[in-house]
Amino acid sequence: MEGAAPNAGGGKRCSMKFSEMPYQRPDIPALREKLEALRARIEGAQSADEAERAYRESDALSQQYATATSLAYIRHSIDTRDAFYDAENAFADENEPVVKEMAQAVNLALLRSPFRKELEARLGEVLFTNLEIEVRSFSPQNLALMQEENRLQSEYQKLYASALADWEGAKLPLPKLGPYKQSGDRATRRRAYEAEGRWFDAHREELDALYDALVRNRTQQARNMGHESYLPLGYDRLGRNCYGIQEVEAFRDQIAKDLVPIVNDVRAAQARRLGLTSLALYDSTVSFPDGNAAPQGTAEEILEKGHAMYRELSPETAEFADFLWGNELLDVRSKEGKAPGGYCTEIPAYGAPFIFSNFNGTSDDVDVLTHEAGHAFAAYRAMRRGIPSNLWTPTMDAAEVHSMSMEFLTAPWHERFFGPAVRKYELAHCEDALTFIPYGCMVDEFQHRMYENPTLTPEQRNAVWLDLEKKYRPWMDLSGLPFYGRGAGWQRQLHIYLFPLYYIDYCMAQTVAFQFWMASLADRGGAWARYLRFVDGGGAKTFASLVEDAGLCLPYAPGCIRKVGGEVAQWLTDNAR
Ligand code: ZN
Repeated sequence: MEGAAPNAGGGKRCSMKFSEMPYQRPDIPALREKLEALRARIEGAQSADEAERAYRESDALSQQYATATSLAYIRHSIDTRDAFYDAENAFADENEPVVKEMAQAVNLALLRSPFRKELEARLGEVLFTNLEIEVRSFSPQNLALMQEENRLQSEYQKLYASALADWEGAKLPLPKLGPYKQSGDRATRRRAYEAEGRWFDAHREELDALYDALVRNRTQQARNMGHESYLPLGYDRLGRNCYGIQEVEAFRDQIAKDLVPIVNDVRAAQARRLGLTSLALYDSTVSFPDGNAAPQGTAEEILEKGHAMYRELSPETAEFADFLWGNELLDVRSKEGKAPGGYCTEIPAYGAPFIFSNFNGTSDDVDVLTHEAGHAFAAYRAMRRGIPSNLWTPTMDAAEVHSMSMEFLTAPWHERFFGPAVRKYELAHCEDALTFIPYGCMVDEFQHRMYENPTLTPEQRNAVWLDLEKKYRPWMDLSGLPFYGRGAGWQRQLHIYLFPLYYIDYCMAQTVAFQFWMASLADRGGAWARYLRFVDGGGAKTFASLVEDAGLCLPYAPGCIRKVGGEVAQWLTDNAR
C-alpha cells in the first residue's frame, strides 16, 4: 500500500512504518471549503442516509487533518531541534481553534437535523449527548475571558517550568530533585522537600494571585452562561455525560469513610518497614528500606519483553503488539533533543496508536509498557470499528480504566521485568494505587470548595487544604516543613491550575481497575473477556454503562468502596513480606 492515500474513516487500515508515513501541511482554506459544503449537505439532506454519509465524510476529513497534526506533534517531540517539525507543530497549534470551530458547525448541523432520531440509532445516542454538552459549554460571549484564562494558565506553566531550587550550592530544576526526594537517606529526602518548598515560598504572591485570577475568571465565564458557579460548566467542559456533583460527592464520602482507615493501616505498615514511628511527607516516596524495585536489563531488552508479554497475554493483544512493534510505533529511549515526559496518541489514517516516553531505568519504564500500552490497545481497537472518531475514546474516567487495569492484568509477566524484586514491585504498585485515591479526592474536594467560594483569601484557601489533609491523609506528618505546613501544598498540583476539576477521574478509574484485577485473580479468562467488552464499548457508552456492562460496581454506588477496599486490603495482608 506504499504511497497510497490512507483510507481514513473505514474499518480497514493499511499498515505502514512510522518513519515512512508521509507528512503534508494541511490546506486550511481547502478544508474549510469542504467542511462548509458538508455542513450544507447535512442541512439540506432529504434522508437520514444522506445526512449520515455527509457526516462520515466530514469525519474522514477530520481524521486526515488529525493525522497530519499528530505526525507533526510526534516528530517534533522526538527531536525538538528539528526546525521543520517545530514550524509544522506551531502551525497546528495556531490553527487548532479555527479547525475546531469549523468542525463545530458540522456538529451543530447534525444536532439540528430533522432526522436526528434515526441518526441516533445509526451513530449512537451518546454521540448526540456529547455534542450537546460540547455546544452548551461554549459561549462566544466568553471569548475574551477564555483568552485570558489561557494566558493565566501559560503564565503558571512558565513560572513552574522555570523553577530552580537551591541545592548544595547549585541551582537545580525542580524535576531534578526527584531522585533526592526518593533517596534512601532520610535527611537527604527531607532537604530535597525543603529545597522545593523554599522555591514555592519565594513565589508565594505570584502563585496566589494567579490562582485567584483563574478562579474569578472561570466563575465569571460560568455566570455569563447563567450558572451560579463554575462547577456545572467545569463538568460540561470535561464532557461528563453520566454523573454530576452529587455522585462525585457520594464517592468522596465513601473514600473518607471506608478507604482512609485502610490506607492509614497501609501507611503504618510502610512506616514499620522503614523503621519509623511516624511517616513524614518526605517518607511517602520510599516503600522499602533497601530501595524500590527496578527493572533488569537494557531499554532494548525491556522493550522486547513487553512485546513478548502482549504476544502471550491474548490473541487480541498479540495482534496489537505485532502491529505496534512492527511499525515503529514506540519511541521510548531517552535521547538528546527529545521532549521530556510521555504520552500515547493516535495517527488516525493508519489506525496507529503511538507511545512516546523517556525510559529512566526505574519501574516507571515498565509502567509505560503496561499503562500507556493499555491506552494504545484501546485506541488500536477503536480505530478498527468503523465508528465516528468522536466515539473512539470515552470520558477520561473510563479511558484511565483501560490503562490502569492493564497494569494489573499483565501481573503474571511482571517477574520477567523485575526478577526476584517482583514481590516488592507488586506490593508497592498496589500500595501506591491505593494511597493515591484519598489524595486525588483531596485535590477534587479542594477545587469544589474553591469554586463554591470564589472570593476566599489565600490564607482561607490554605486553611481548606489543611482541613482536607486531616480528612484524607490523617497519617501525614507535615511538621517542620513551612511550605506544606501552612497548607500551600496544593500549588504543586498543576491540575488545580491547568485542568480544573479533572482528577477525580483517576480515582474512579482506579477503583474500577482494582475490580478487574480482583476478577482476574479469581478467573483470568472471564476477567479478560469483561475487560475486552469494556474496551470495545469505547466512547459509544457512558462510564456508568461500561462499568455496569462489565458486571462491576460503580465507584459512587453505595457500598462499592467498602467492598473493593476490603478485597485489596486482604490481598495486601496476604502478600506483605
Ligand atoms: Zn493514563
